[in-house]
Amino acid sequence: MKIHEYQAKELFKEAGVAVPDGVATSSVEEAVKAAEEMKANGTNLFVVKAQIHAGGRGKGRTKKNNAKGVILCRSIDEVREAAESLLGDTLVTIQTGEEGQEVKTIYVTDGVDIEKEFYLGILLDRANSQNVIMVSTEGGVEIEKVAEETPEKIVKEWVEPGMELFPSQARRLAFALGFEGAAFKKAVKFIMALYNFYVDTDANMVEINPLVLTTDDDVMALDAKVTFDGNALYRHKDIVELRDTSEENPIELEASKFDLNYIKLDGNVGCMVNGAGLAMATMDIIKLSGGEPANFLDVGGGANVETVKNGFRIILDDKNVKAILINIFGGIVRCDRVANGVIEAVKDPEIADKVKNVPIIVRLQGTNAEEAKEIIDNSDLNVISAVLLKEAAEEVSKVLAA
Ligand code: GDP
Ligand code: MG
Repeated sequence: MKIHEYQAKELFKEAGVAVPDGVATSSVEEAVKAAEEMKANGTNLFVVKAQIHAGGRGKGRTKKNNAKGVILCRSIDEVREAAESLLGDTLVTIQTGEEGQEVKTIYVTDGVDIEKEFYLGILLDRANSQNVIMVSTEGGVEIEKVAEETPEKIVKEWVEPGMELFPSQARRLAFALGFEGAAFKKAVKFIMALYNFYVDTDANMVEINPLVLTTDDDVMALDAKVTFDGNALYRHKDIVELRDTSEENPIELEASKFDLNYIKLDGNVGCMVNGAGLAMATMDIIKLSGGEPANFLDVGGGANVETVKNGFRIILDDKNVKAILINIFGGIVRCDRVANGVIEAVKDPEIADKVKNVPIIVRLQGTNAEEAKEIIDNSDLNVISAVLLKEAAEEVSKVLAA
């Protein structure tokens, strides 16, 4: 689960991780008021930041007003202008795709004078089964680029899950970034507090880009990207409340309500599969036979009438879908039951209407596969059966060519 930058920074503050002050709002007047208060406290640099669940805002532009997603302002008038240009407009960044994301909230922050920008990321290193903290002196740049071109500029420390981060490790990281004196101490404190935040909140990833050294020798997070482990959310009611479903793909959101694991893709062949590994293999075989998968959909272990129906609804919400490939391996679940489930689902009036022009290819393998094939073949519905995955894929390319 993702949250907005302003929400992450509010959580950081509680966890003792230094951030600039700021106010999140969806009104121009409130943005202006917040800046006026900051000005009264001696600030004359303000930053107005679009709050969307995507990075690259600084380099992004809005569709109508051609405004940047992060705007530095030197006066209250500029804050007003920035707020007006962002709120309600749609911001396109390298992470949003062409359609962009509507800006519903902005964050007005106390601007800081930057001495130097750094990168700091914490995530799970699956290859080592350990948490890893990565830092780089190349802040403000995409870390993927640094990793590719100058990997020696990324310094890492690993922590065994269940163990604490040693202060000596935090010191090594702060040292690698070149911090000295008072700033060195602040950097160590920052890293320790952020690592504890990552563990305490069951975060998947915490990325600070940039982490900055200010001209006043302060160390703070100017940006904050945090995602949480969905499987651990039941332990964090306060974090669940921060979820902004309007930022999520509507079909993916619908699928999550039914406990279906759905990811939308750009192709035209909808797939319904039980098991994530089989779903990956199915997408591969669709590609090999000349199609493009429209989605990843794992309906899980129990492929019954209800899950199949929900699967159809979700897949058919995508207007690009020209054919559907159902690939079920019946291990615990019996294929004949799945076949009956598919037929019953296709008879559902709402689904029947939508699948009129969408051929369905079903490949059932495993327990009672023969009976299942018979059930499909004997039905008078627009459903084609196959026993081998290869055959199923060939059927898909046939119907796409037709
Ligand atoms: P992103 O583009 O979505 O990653 O948004 P960021 O929050 O990282 O902001 C983009 C860039 O704006 C940063 O890399 C900084 O260079 C700049 N920026 C953001 N906040 C401030 C600030 O308070 N002062 C100054 N001088 N620059 C800032
Ligand atoms: Mg950033």
